[in-house]
Amino acid sequence: MRISDLGEFGLIRDIQRLSLRKSSSALIGIGDDAAALRVSPSKILLVTTDMLLEEIHFDFSFTDFRSLGWKSAAANLSDIAAMGGVPRYCLTSMGIPDRVSVEQIKDFYRGFHSLMKAHKTMLVGGDTCHSGKEMVISVTVLGETERTRILSRSGARPGDRIFVTGTLGDSAAGLEILKNGRGPKGKGPEAKRLIEKHLSPVPRVAEGRAIALAGCASAMIDISDGLSSDLAHVCEQSGVGAEIRSDRIPISASLMKFARGRAMPVLHFALSGGEDYELLFTVPPGKTKRLRSLNLPVTEIGTVKRGKRVFLVDDRNRKSRLKPEGYDHFRRTNVS
Ligand code: ADP
Ligand code: MG
Repeated sequence: MRISDLGEFGLIRDIQRLSLRKSSSALIGIGDDAAALRVSPSKILLVTTDMLLEEIHFDFSFTDFRSLGWKSAAANLSDIAAMGGVPRYCLTSMGIPDRVSVEQIKDFYRGFHSLMKAHKTMLVGGDTCHSGKEMVISVTVLGETERTRILSRSGARPGDRIFVTGTLGDSAAGLEILKNGRGPKGKGPEAKRLIEKHLSPVPRVAEGRAIALAGCASAMIDISDGLSSDLAHVCEQSGVGAEIRSDRIPISASLMKFARGRAMPVLHFALSGGEDYELLFTVPPGKTKRLRSLNLPVTEIGTVKRGKRVFLVDDRNRKSRLKPEGYDHFRRTNVS
């Protein structure tokens, strides 16, 4: 069978079937933002790893090494944030083609460490190889949390409210601006802000931890693939459906202003754009007050429902199915 017939997530399921299935200390294995491993009765080790490939995840005509370093750190820190954990250590592996210079690699690490150091996360190892043509980057982050604070994708229950941090769609809009050859220079402040959100996203580590410590959420994920896909991951893992309202999706003032008078699919970017690195989480109705008391930048966008399907309700109360539209690496199409 060709991998393209199976798709990325089917392939991961097959890989999972071939591995050791049960271990009393692996509280969470394949299928969440990070693995959660019990290393002592109360301490949980969180581990997450992500690969970034030139031409697939990044393009040097849009990004520089410093931004790439920052973004590689952000993507992994965001997965630790989504588990409600504290990042502690990291490892980086690289495949470097001939055309890349020492100064460029140093620039990568300047960007990488400006974010990792802000989170007191120390580089403790990695691997370096020569690569034929393309630059390959792999980052692993180790974090920690307490057994009672782990926030997985599987705890959402019917009736829970669905929240997101920050605003959605900026990153996709920023990428669109870059793809259209309109770099930050000579652009208005909105375009600059959107490009910045795409190249240097800020992971919600403090917010994820605050939500976990307050004990108010039932499930959490970071929005890396796009709201429609990441909400579908939570629903699938929790065995529930959901309903979200299009008029509640938080859109930044920069995106609203930039899109005005332009044919920019703002709602589509917000629902399916991806790489926002915001958090999506569910809160039982009795705990929303506790969440509000934390004063975090969060918006309630919908409710967890029975069943399996996810619906989008528009401002005239019309309901339509919200299909996950994240990228499948092997099908190279939307997942549905
Ligand atoms: P995220 O978007 O949060 O990084 P992914 O969608 O990349 O998560 O991965 C989903 C799950 O599948 C994660 O638990 C990840 O660790 C696991 N996974 C992905 N690829 C592999 C692989 N080749 N072998 C084992 N586990 C994998
Ligand atoms: Mg994730």
